[in-house]
Amino acid sequence: MQRRKATFKLYPNAVQQQTLEEWTRLHCELYNAALQERIEAYRKVGISISYYDQQNALPEIKVHRPEFIELGSHALQQTLRRLDLSFQAFFRRVKAGQTPGFPRFKSSTRFSGFCYPDLAGWKLFQQGERGATLRIGSGKDAMMIRARGKHRFAEFKPNDLTITRRNGQWFASVTLRVPETSCARERVDQQQRGIDFGVNDWATFDNGETIENPRFVRNELPRLAQLQRQRDRKKKGSCRYRRLSKQIGKLHERIGNLRRDFLHKETTRIVQTCAVIATEALQPKNMSRSAKGTLEKPGKRIKQKAGLNREILSASFGMAHQMLAYKAEEAGTRLHLANTHQLKPSQRCCVCWEIVPKTLSQRMHQCSHCGHSMQRDQNSAAVVLIDACTPGTGVAARPKPLARQRAKPRSKTRETPTTIAQAI
Ligand SMILES: [Zn+2]
Repeated sequence: MQRRKATFKLYPNAVQQQTLEEWTRLHCELYNAALQERIEAYRKVGISISYYDQQNALPEIKVHRPEFIELGSHALQQTLRRLDLSFQAFFRRVKAGQTPGFPRFKSSTRFSGFCYPDLAGWKLFQQGERGATLRIGSGKDAMMIRARGKHRFAEFKPNDLTITRRNGQWFASVTLRVPETSCARERVDQQQRGIDFGVNDWATFDNGETIENPRFVRNELPRLAQLQRQRDRKKKGSCRYRRLSKQIGKLHERIGNLRRDFLHKETTRIVQTCAVIATEALQPKNMSRSAKGTLEKPGKRIKQKAGLNREILSASFGMAHQMLAYKAEEAGTRLHLANTHQLKPSQRCCVCWEIVPKTLSQRMHQCSHCGHSMQRDQNSAAVVLIDACTPGTGVAARPKPLARQRAKPRSKTRETPTTIAQAI
């Protein structure tokens, strides 16, 4: 069994929306009260209150505050568990010598939502292509909320439900337990591809094919700056200020949606056509390190680096890698992540395997040893592909193919790097 998430957009009517907001407010109140209880108990008498102490107090709370009853006891427990998790994370980080922030009180307008940890209290009905109805609660008080969305699984068992609010819109996220056979993706081709991800072209393949970088943030940047300038002229907290904040939030959401859509489509296409995918194990955090430097030793070209960082983060290689990883597993594709430090794909020649140092601005690979000349990113994609075809290299991340899709083992031995590079 695998776990997969499916998200549905909710279309509550006015009454339902009010109820959802009221319930979110109550969950938030519970969260804040539980946090306060923990803080006060520790300050006044030095006791640490555990999750179970708080869970056991729930029935009593419901006696005094009957409005909590219809929220469902498991959902209430889940909110307490959420607080417990944040305390666990806090203490774990303290122990590790980091300086985490203490769990905070949350404002009900920013509280993201609530969760039903099991099947109690809700049910999702699917209708037609992408229509759905979500039932929350039971009996004659149950809410039937219109929803839209679909997933690709034929067989599944729902596991839990999370209701979230983003920018005034409501979403229902359902965790599904899906059998492996239902997860499997079809593969239409058996190519072996090396990929180099980058900012100029989002992806370059070893055969010279490229995927253009859509640059969603850069395209929307003038509009974003304009809105932010407008907002700065308004009085903070006023109606106009809030209206513009909402528009800015919407714009950010749009950028995120476009990006996710792009990444899903491209990674699916890559995985569907490839039996072997080779790429570098990236560390975007290192790539986008700030150039600011320290006060005594300020960095150079800070603005340019900030712009590059924005582009690196916007291209979201991390998200692309995650998607490639799980989709490759579903399709029985071998994903090879080369060790960048050992392999140095951008510096290595894919024909003679020698290191040819070059700076970031040099876009052509011109080998001084064998005279091989190639576009820089294409060369480095070819290098990682050779690395993938060489046994005993690369770092982990070779998911096992699904049983029914397991391909015949390919015996590929490398005599010299040259022969393989030419074969490819
Ligand atoms: Zn060479």
